[in-house]
Parts: sequence; structure tokens; C-alpha cells
Amino acid sequence: MITQTKVSDIFNRQRQFFSAGKTKNVEFRIEQLKNLEQAIEVNKGLIIKALKADLNKPGFEAYFEMMGVLSEIKYAVKNIKSWTKAQKIGTPFHQFLSSAKVYKEPLGVVLIIGPWNYPINLMLVPLVGAIAAGNCSILKPSEIASHTSSVIAEIIQKTFDPSFIAVIEGGVETSKELLSESFDHIFFTGGTDIGKIVMSSAAQNLTPVTLELGGKSPCIVDDNVNIEYTAKRIVWGKFSNAGQTCTAPDYLLVKKNIKKELLNSIKKHIQKFYGEEPSKSHSYARIINQRHFSRLSQLLKDGEIFVGGDTNLEELYIAPTVIDQVSWKDKVMQEEIFGPILPVLEYTHLSEAIDLVNKQPKPLALYFFSINKKNQELVLQETASGGVCINDTVMHLTVPALPFGGVGASGFGRYHGKAGFDTFSYQRGVLNKSFLLDLNWRYPPYLEKKKH
Ligand code: NAD
Repeated sequence: MITQTKVSDIFNRQRQFFSAGKTKNVEFRIEQLKNLEQAIEVNKGLIIKALKADLNKPGFEAYFEMMGVLSEIKYAVKNIKSWTKAQKIGTPFHQFLSSAKVYKEPLGVVLIIGPWNYPINLMLVPLVGAIAAGNCSILKPSEIASHTSSVIAEIIQKTFDPSFIAVIEGGVETSKELLSESFDHIFFTGGTDIGKIVMSSAAQNLTPVTLELGGKSPCIVDDNVNIEYTAKRIVWGKFSNAGQTCTAPDYLLVKKNIKKELLNSIKKHIQKFYGEEPSKSHSYARIINQRHFSRLSQLLKDGEIFVGGDTNLEELYIAPTVIDQVSWKDKVMQEEIFGPILPVLEYTHLSEAIDLVNKQPKPLALYFFSINKKNQELVLQETASGGVCINDTVMHLTVPALPFGGVGASGFGRYHGKAGFDTFSYQRGVLNKSFLLDLNWRYPPYLEKKKH
């Protein structure tokens, strides 16, 4: 087990490394980003194997997860010079003959704590922002995806000086030890309850936090859509990684008059994607552990199963499942599902769907399928969520220029692209005065006094 001495030792070495100023150099940051890119390329096989061992993650989904990191690296390398450039600001008239600039400064030594569901992406994409902004980083991957945690540790150790980037593996105790250090930023991805613990620990050191949390992301379907594409996109977003995706559509709110047609198409696409027996499909992942398997099995008791429902504890398998006839009182509608279960609710008027969504805590993502621009605008205007994807699910995450994060109970702070760079930087306002002129109006004795 990792000891407090070891945590403090690595932390202090990183403090010294940061103080030496090496990370301030933009060329150094670019070189490190390229080293990370190279390390992922070289170790693709190891990563795929580890994700398979932890989640039975299909090779393509593992590849997709890595692609997310690689495209963030490319985007950062391409844009880092413009992001780091000091920004000239106009000055008011009374600051005549001066100039003002905003500098983007690194924060220092940062801590990144990750979850188990996309253990590579959710550990390394924040790291891209931290490197680009010029920080030293300690990574704490989830102990639950233990194979991937070891691979991350191995890759980072082979690639970086631990005084610059280090991985500390472990569970809750290790996390707690790390949280007692005085980091300059903590970037946490995980559940809401643990997010609260992280935030209160961070408060002891006045450390700013980014909390990337979860919640129930709604998927609303209007009656004017291409049913085939809608069904395909929902099935993909919901059942990839066996539903263990923070932005997966949690529940479906479908307009009553197309419900039957949409559900039949969803059923057809589940069969097309995963076959008659999804347990034999090489494209379908498994539940991470017994605890989550039992939790999800309980949720299958709600409503009426429209498709799926099969489980196998030995294989940690839960079939892609759609549940009809659920109500908000059911357990499946009271907690984040985070598994391959899609409850279905219906609405008659769009305003009903909007009201239902607004009665829940603000979600991480909101999906709306409709070709009606007015309805699209209405949903955007009258709801709140971390992000939105119209006429698709999950794909908004793949656009590096779109800031990603939650709002309210789904978290706060943003990353991906420049938003990640900004999260790991602070803005330093600098006013630079001239000696050519020095107006006396601000110096005592003040004008008012002179009058008396
Ligand atoms: P979790 O909160 O249980 O664990 C996340 C991390 O926190 C792990 O590294 C774990 O070791 C650590 N941890 C656990 N208990 C701790 C404690 N008491 N003190 C300090 N650290 C502790 O989350 P999880 O089960 O790994 O992931 C699932 C949750 O994460 C879901 O709610 C999901 O929605 C959310 N999530 C959010 C995003 C996002 O981008 N917003 C992405 C993925 C997952």
C-alpha cells in the first residue's frame, strides 16, 4: 500500500520541479504532449487488453476511447501557442500611456482523480489540459478498473519524470492521503456523493476543484424525426460500454404518437447490433463488478420489460434492456442508472416533457430528437444541462472545441480543448505604466480637501 510519506515525497518533488520553471516553456509542453501521444500509440495493444480485462470492453470501443485522447492532444498541440499568448486589453482613459495584458499562468501541482468506466479517456484527457497549461500532475486512477490502472501507471512511469507526472494507484485510503496535500487544483470525475467528500477536503487547503459528476440525462424524442436513425443513435449511446457511460441517455421521453414505432425500431437495432443473444456478441461489454450487477438487477424489477432483461451473475452480464410502463416513483427513475437499462416514459405536449426534465436535478447531458427548429429552440431555452446534443447521443463529447462538464448536481467546471487549458490555468492581469507622464489628481492632498 502507498504510504503518506510516498505521497508527500512525490508531491514535494513535483513542487520543486514546478518551481524550477521548466513547465513554463511552451516548447517543453508541446514535447510532453507529443510524448503522451506516442506513448498511447505504442501501447495501444496493452490498453485494449486492460480494458477488455476490466469491462470486456470491445476492441472498437477501446479504440474509440483512445481516439478521444489522441484528438485532444492534436488539438492542444495545434492551438497551444494561441492559448498561451498574453491577451492585450484596452485601458480606460485615466490610464493613458499604459498597456494591459492578461497572462495565462499554470496553477502548479494538480491532482486528477478518475472513475472506472472510461478509465483511459477520463484520466488522460484532463491530463492533456494540465500539460498544455504547464502544470505538474499526480494521477489517481480508479482501483475498480484495476488492469487499466496498472497500465496507466506503467505507461506514465515509462514516459515521464515522476517529478513532472506521476501515477499513484490505490483506493479510497490513497485518495484520502492525496487529498490531504495542498494541491493547486483537483480535477475529480466520479459520483456526486464522492464529489462532495472531495470538495470538502479541498476546502481545507482552499484548493479549487473541478467536479465532473453524473446524473440522469434525459433523451426526448419529438414525432417528426427519422425513426430509424433516432433508434440507432439512442441504442448506440445507451448500450455502448453496457450503458456505463456518464453521458448515456438515462431515460427516454417519447411523444406518445410515435412511441410504438420507435420502440420497435429500438428493439430491431438492439438485435442488429448485438444479435439474438447479446451475451455472445463481441461488441457488448460487461458490468464492472458484482456490486453494480446487484444494484442494476434490482432496477430490472420495475415496469414491464419490452426487450432484454436477461442476466448472468457469473459473467456479470445484463442484456440491453428497455423497460416500458415505468413511473417516476420507480427506483429506476430515482437514481442514475449507469447500466444497460433504458426506461421509457411518454408525453403528449413538449411542454410536459420539459416540465418533467426540469423537476429533476440538472443533468450532465440532454438529448433532443426533432427537426422542428422552434421546438429545438424551446428545449434549449427552457431547460438546463451541462451539454446538449440534438438529433444524436454522446457525440458532442467528440468535438474538442466544445467545453464539456456539468451544471448543478452534475458538477461544475469545464474541459476538452481550450476549456481544459483554461481550467488548469489562472488569468494574471498585468498593467504596465509609463514614466512619461504622472497626473497628480489621485495624490493627496485631495482636491476636495484643498477647497476647505
Ligand atoms: P466514484 O465516485 O465511486 O469514484 C471515483 C474516484 O474517486 C475513484 O478513483 C475512487 O477511488 C475515488 N474515491 C472513492 N471514494 C472516495 C472517497 N471516499 N474519498 C476520496 N476518493 C474516493 O465513481 P465511479 O463509481 O468510479 O464512477 C461512476 C460515477 O462517475 C457515475 O456517477 C458517473 O456518472 C460519474 N462519471 C462522470 C463523468 C463525467 O465526465 N461527468 C464521467 C464518468 C463517470
